[in-house]
Amino acid sequence: MTEPFRSQEKPVELPMLPVPAPPAPMADCTLCGLLDAWRTAHNDPRHSAYDPSSGIDCNVEIRNHPHDPPRMTLPARVPGPR
Ligand SMILES: [Zn+2]
Repeated sequence: MTEPFRSQEKPVELPMLPVPAPPAPMADCTLCGLLDAWRTAHNDPRHSAYDPSSGIDCNVEIRNHPHDPPRMTLPARVPGPR
């Protein structure tokens, strides 16, 4: 019976990639403005709409400007804080 091959190789070190900055909403776009307001609410732990995952979805849609077609829908009104 042969011994299994075992090695003591160094672990692979992967580079840390920088986290990209959140996209800036286009100034003249109503939907970007709404998405920015929702993103702010989703990223605020004190807000009733706190949900960081949904905040990321807002980033994706802001990057999708000019939203043709929009990939997500949002209520027109951002809920108030708790
Ligand atoms: Zn837009």
